[in-house]
Amino acid sequence: MRKTPPKGFSVAHPYHHALSSVRKWGGQVDDYIRIHEWFDESKKITADFRHRALRHHAEGIFMAQAFFGSTIVLSTGRIIPTRWVGEQHVREDLGFIPSFGDWAKAIRPKRWMGRATKLIPDEALVVRDSQA
Ligand SMILES: [Zn+2]
Repeated sequence: MRKTPPKGFSVAHPYHHALSSVRKWGGQVDDYIRIHEWFDESKKITADFRHRALRHHAEGIFMAQAFFGSTIVLSTGRIIPTRWVGEQHVREDLGFIPSFGDWAKAIRPKRWMGRATKLIPDEALVVRDSQA
């Protein structure tokens, strides 16, 4: 079984990210695949690379830690921080670890995003004012 992606291969599928994890920390694909699949599950929502805005950032890495625990135990018995796996995934996809703010700056604001509605009817405000 091949343990590393072929030279020049674009690492994009969770399986290939897991192979890369095996090369870094040992163990086997099954030790890591669920974490890498979790990062890329947002492809269910948007099939192109913009899906990465949901979890491929610093907060997403901490979310993975909350989801999978602070550490994972490999099949070899070695214990590694879950964040290492998340950082590896995001760096392999993007070349660095952005903040969510970096993604937000790339979103073009639309009117519907800032639309506000009244949460308290005017009549309720009048009653509250008269009771004061
Ligand atoms: Zn990814």
